[in-house]
Amino acid sequence: MTVVDRQEWDVVVVGAGGAGLRAAIEARERGARTAVICKSLFGKAHTVMAEGGIAAAMGNVNAGDDWRVHFRDTLRGGKFLNQWRMAELHAQEAPQRVWELETWGALFDRTKDGRISQRNFGGHEYPRLAHVGDRTGLELIRTLQQKIVALQQEDFRETGDYEARLKVFQECTVTRVLKEGDQVAGVFGYERETGRFFVLEAPAVVLATGGIGKSFKVTSNSWEYTGDGHALALLAGAPLLNMEFVQFHPTGMVWPPSVKGILVTESVRGDGGVLRNSEGKRFMFDYVPDVFKDKYAESAEEGDRWYDDPDHNRRPPELLPRDEVARAINAEVKAGRGSPHGGVFLDVSTRMPAEVIRRRLPSMYHQFKELADVDITAEPMEVGPTCHYVMGGIAVDSDSAAARGVPGLFAAGEVAGGMHGSNRLGGNSLSDLLVFGRRAGLYAAEYAAGRTAARPRADDAQVDAAAAEALRPFSAESEAPAEGPPENPYTLHQELQQAMNDLVGIIRREPEMKQALEKLAELRLRARRAGVEGHRQFNPGWHLALDLRNMLLVSECVARSALERTESRGGHTREDHSVMDRAWRNVNLLCELTDPTGGLAATDPVRGQITLTRERTEPIRPDLLALFEKEELVKYLTEEELDA
Ligand code: FAD
Repeated sequence: MTVVDRQEWDVVVVGAGGAGLRAAIEARERGARTAVICKSLFGKAHTVMAEGGIAAAMGNVNAGDDWRVHFRDTLRGGKFLNQWRMAELHAQEAPQRVWELETWGALFDRTKDGRISQRNFGGHEYPRLAHVGDRTGLELIRTLQQKIVALQQEDFRETGDYEARLKVFQECTVTRVLKEGDQVAGVFGYERETGRFFVLEAPAVVLATGGIGKSFKVTSNSWEYTGDGHALALLAGAPLLNMEFVQFHPTGMVWPPSVKGILVTESVRGDGGVLRNSEGKRFMFDYVPDVFKDKYAESAEEGDRWYDDPDHNRRPPELLPRDEVARAINAEVKAGRGSPHGGVFLDVSTRMPAEVIRRRLPSMYHQFKELADVDITAEPMEVGPTCHYVMGGIAVDSDSAAARGVPGLFAAGEVAGGMHGSNRLGGNSLSDLLVFGRRAGLYAAEYAAGRTAARPRADDAQVDAAAAEALRPFSAESEAPAEGPPENPYTLHQELQQAMNDLVGIIRREPEMKQALEKLAELRLRARRAGVEGHRQFNPGWHLALDLRNMLLVSECVARSALERTESRGGHTREDHSVMDRAWRNVNLLCELTDPTGGLAATDPVRGQITLTRERTEPIRPDLLALFEKEELVKYLTEEELDA
């Protein structure tokens, strides 16, 4: 039996980004003893990188805005595949979550009359993003951290122990959700620095681990985005929803190579930046799809007038949803009208005075100056698509954030699916993680409170198996000598990222996706021999080897779902099925683990590890459908849905 430290908590939150911290605050405030675990230092989560803002229909800059308009925009952005109840709750509750942040100490930029300022972003009808310059995520995390510290101080006054009811375990990685029968019993993990194993027992676990971008070569995402929560849910028996929908943000840096993929915030376009090709043409006017034709300007003059008079002009097409802009940039580059380093030009220098650029976009100014030696107040940036966000995720109940099929498991933030449909609007992630982080914490605490009498307990065999799995990379060579030489986990990461980028990237084709699945099968076999030397202390090679299981699982979900969905919708673009097909509007794709014991199927290259099923989406509630014009619905819904 492996000796591991065991502790008991009521709620364990895996992830200390916006979703995890908001969940933890809520759970603790509802009386649950709550533990938070994160891979990096407390305060260093991915959310910190968020730049542009939090979308919330507060109507501070344009009084015409309200939750219904936000709901409509979100559904349009997601091409009507959103889990509509989530989109409804999100639009209704986002303003409260922003005001609440302010009462906890967040310092948002202000309008002239002193209200929280809101900026324009792609796909949002009105200025809607509450922001702090272009460092909104930093302020969001700082505020939530401060709230956590305040709660800990409260607990200290009462109990003499700061961590009596709320404790953060930083630089720790969870590798398994533990169960008793079908119920959640806690998590198994290791301390990254010491390699020591631990178990946190709890009847309720909230997964808030963020996204999967590190499975792609060019990405705006950090090292933490190896799809851990997605994989943990699959391994615990919960399905993933619509994993084919991966967002390629239109504007990542393309040069120099060492920074390729780093995000250039959409605020650049929201504040007036324009996209031009190598011929100097503002090409986005050529790429407005039919479903959006009546909502976007037809000329540069009209688009420019919109910034000052949005009520009498249509918005410029640079502010179309991200999927549309990313495809347009891709097409321009492919047609030979790209910039010298394979992107297009994004220009603010001719649109705003230098001091305004430096004030409104301080991070972008420094990012380009320091990383590319480009002064964005004097010359255009070169930008191109970068893997940014995953819309697919753990299938959850809209109201409670409970993961489907596994009592005690909850999910919130980027790891959860459904909210954004096939494409997320900018700013809707920060609001999503506040709204559903709070809900996950609330319902997890309620669930845990209902199980105080008979808490589920993970047996030793399960803990031993989790420890053995984690130790495998140290004995890879001796365990399977006949299967071939040991593999370097770093090389496997690189090959996986390259394959996903090239074969399941922004534009997808059937033969390439099949090739990707073959490559994943090969990598899966080789990953069994991913070996590391040394010991568990300070061993990043070991961490990479452990991440591989998750990246391979998640990549297979993306590739299988993308192959199955024979249409183009939102973040999923098929060259061989290039139009959005209404017949797919009400179809969800669910991925489940074929063999949860990790037995035969895990090594079967043909069957793979994932079983895919189709499921009908829940019909959209009539009063929500009534928010749209019939002519618009006709473009999205099936005949059957329209007649209902
Ligand atoms: P994260 O903030 O990524 O937190 C995940 C947490 O899980 C981390 O603490 C991590 O350590 C932990 N974790 C992961 N795996 C494990 C494990 N196995 N064990 C333990 N802990 C684990 N969205 C907007 O709405 N507006 C914006 O302006 C915006 N700008 C962005 C700019 C950039 C550069 C990027 C990359 C994204 C941006 N986004 C924006 C998207 C948004 O930031 C993310 O979708 C969001 O922050 C995700 O939050 P989260 O809480 O779900 O996850």
